[in-house]
Amino acid sequence: MNLHEYQGKEILSSFGVAVQNGIVAHSAEEAVSAAQKLTDTTGTSWHVIKAQIHAGGRGKGGGVKLAKSLDEVQSLSDQIIGMQLITPQTPPEGKKVNKVLVAEDVYYPGDSEPKEFYVSVLLNRSSGKNMIMYSTEGGMDIEAVAENTPELIFTEEIDSAHGLQGFQARNVAFNLGLSGLAFKEMVKFITALYRAYVGADASLFEINPVLKTSDDKIIAVDAKVTLDENALFRHKEYAELRDLSEENPTEVEAREVGLNYVALDGNVGCMVNGAGLAMATMDLIKQSGGSPANFLDVGGTADAARVETAFRLILKDPKVAAILVNIFGGIVRCDRVAQGIVDAYRNMGDAIKVPIIVRLQGTNADIAKKLIDDSGLNVLSATAFEEAAQKVQEAL
Ligand code: GDP
Ligand code: MN
Repeated sequence: MNLHEYQGKEILSSFGVAVQNGIVAHSAEEAVSAAQKLTDTTGTSWHVIKAQIHAGGRGKGGGVKLAKSLDEVQSLSDQIIGMQLITPQTPPEGKKVNKVLVAEDVYYPGDSEPKEFYVSVLLNRSSGKNMIMYSTEGGMDIEAVAENTPELIFTEEIDSAHGLQGFQARNVAFNLGLSGLAFKEMVKFITALYRAYVGADASLFEINPVLKTSDDKIIAVDAKVTLDENALFRHKEYAELRDLSEENPTEVEAREVGLNYVALDGNVGCMVNGAGLAMATMDLIKQSGGSPANFLDVGGTADAARVETAFRLILKDPKVAAILVNIFGGIVRCDRVAQGIVDAYRNMGDAIKVPIIVRLQGTNADIAKKLIDDSGLNVLSATAFEEAAQKVQEAL
């Protein structure tokens, strides 16, 4: 589950990580009163107005602006709230901004040495360990740093049996070129950050930039936080942080009816039972030159009602030009699934306008194939995996 920057910062702060203070606002008026409440660390009475959307690169897209007066807080918030913000990480049409974070300006004016670092904590899936990834090249596009100067990206892998060790936090501070007070502050920052990552059951923290001010404060200026959904039952208080308006509506609907659906950008709708088979199906579609429109695991009970729900979800995506149903009948019998497909199809009347290719394998596959072939519907049956993918290509 992805969070907004302001929510991520609240979690960080609750674990003792130093963050740029801010207050979320849903209107220009709220933004002004938020600005009045914030302390003025830099002595300028400046604030930064930051669009809250689930995407990074907001600075580049015009979603992060410095306000030098309360009037500017008002006018910039007014401008940003309601805008369609386009960044390198949003869909091409951008994302609508519903709220802004009004934050204290933490960059001292005239400071020739504000230093921006990159720090993230994430799970390294190859080693199965959490890792801290960090770089002196913060504030900018970390993907570009990884591409052009990979030697400037460092990592510390953490043994979960022992947790973050003191020497590892000191390694981070050392490799970032810090000394004296800044070194101590960075060690504190990293220690608290890792405690927060484990304590909140997060799967990603990306803090870019982490700012070192000229008086050696270390502060999280940005926060991209992803929580592990499977651990949310341990954090009832985080459940309400979910912002459904940021999520794909079909994915939200699928979750409500207990289906595991992930929207993708291709044109072949997929209905599969089992996550592994669903992944293999998407691979096969790709290999035969197509592109999947979604991942959908219908699970063990592919009866008519469930198949219909699945068809309706898949067809919400206007890009879908054909649907591939790939079901392995191990526990569930293929003929029952086939009957479910035929019933669902008939029940939906003319809602289905795209060809459907059905591959059923396993128990009673032959009966199932006959059922489909005799149905008189625009449903093609296939026996082999490749044959199914081939028929999809021909149907497009
Ligand atoms: P992102 O573009 O979505 O990653 O948003 P960030 O929160 O990282 O903000 C983008 C950039 O705005 C940062 O890299 C900073 O350089 C700048 N910025 C953020 N907060 C402040 C602030 O308090 N004062 C000033 N002057 N600049 C800021
Ligand atoms: Mn950032």
